[in-house]
Amino acid sequence: MTTARRDATTPRLEIRLDRIRHNARTLVRRLGSRGISVTGVTKATLGSPEIARAMLAAGVVGLGESRVENIEAMRRSGIDSPMTLLRSPMMSQVDRVVASADVSLNSEPEVLAALSASAVEQDRTHGVVLMVELGDLREGILPADLEYVARAVLALPGLVLRGIGTNLACQSGVSPDPRNMAELSCLARTMETALGVHFDLVSGGNSANLDWVFASDDVGRVDNLRLGESILLGCEPLRRRPIDDLHTDAITLVAEVIESKAKPSQSWGEINQTAFGLQAAATDRGTTNRVILALGRQDVDPAGLVVPPGIEILGASSDHIVLDAGQTHVAVGSEMSFQLDYSGLLRAMTSPFVARRFSDPAPT
Ligand SMILES: *Cc1c(COP(=O)(O)O)cnc(C)c1O
Repeated sequence: MTTARRDATTPRLEIRLDRIRHNARTLVRRLGSRGISVTGVTKATLGSPEIARAMLAAGVVGLGESRVENIEAMRRSGIDSPMTLLRSPMMSQVDRVVASADVSLNSEPEVLAALSASAVEQDRTHGVVLMVELGDLREGILPADLEYVARAVLALPGLVLRGIGTNLACQSGVSPDPRNMAELSCLARTMETALGVHFDLVSGGNSANLDWVFASDDVGRVDNLRLGESILLGCEPLRRRPIDDLHTDAITLVAEVIESKAKPSQSWGEINQTAFGLQAAATDRGTTNRVILALGRQDVDPAGLVVPPGIEILGASSDHIVLDAGQTHVAVGSEMSFQLDYSGLLRAMTSPFVARRFSDPAPT
């Protein structure tokens, strides 16, 4: 805990660009030795140009973003690296997708036809990666339909079929494993033979694929991963364990204490719903040091805050988070720092109330 400075805005994210660069560089190197390139995913950062540049400086081959608005903002800030739209393009946005992204991940023939028409109209070419459904049941073409869709893409003017990809562990938590990854490689080889083409991208997945990569002797045809969480938070998402030699504190959230009082641990009066539903009755711990932060659900997912030992979150509403500080006395006006999980990071990065302070103690 530190005393708040009058010139520092809270809540704020403190973002160590040198640590993000280190994480990205370490992963680029480790995966590079397995023949896998890294696409740096910026979607949890609202397309932050500073973070995008840190990833690019570390050797990622391009950037991945789920929203065209963020891609456009990065283009406006002067980033001209290859950009991939990760979420299947909305029909209503195909013109913007073709204008700003080099590649998009796709699964719908109607969208591909619309991208083609737009590319022809804009006199551009647009790269296509076809996403294959391998069991997680989010986006993807069923393997049996892949050849038909791939042939359609080859016949559409303005589109270039760059390869295939898959995404696991997002919707159902299905882990990348030797079986589903071998299926992706097998589909890539079968398609290349059937269509007489060479895929320059077989994009195996996201940060959840790292365990599989490091445990396998043979990554098959997989030659690209799209990594966000592992670069930003330094952990793998399947069990949320830290990855060796990566920083897990590249990004911290700082909030300010607006009330700090010893109060009884149990509320009194007739109990009905709170602003966010029922609250379980607190156990009686006598009088405790209760701390209120000027931080709420509009700023962060309270469940996504990693709280320091000895401190417990008692509750959260739109604008307040109430902590039990145990035996620690916390002064009003002081600042508290928290590490974040993915959900906490995403909400804080996309909240208009949370400032960002970038630092780069070791620019390279
Ligand atoms: C979000 C996303 C990624 C990156 O996932 P991380 O777990 O942050 O590495 C990769 N691919 C797709 C399609 C995504 O939506």
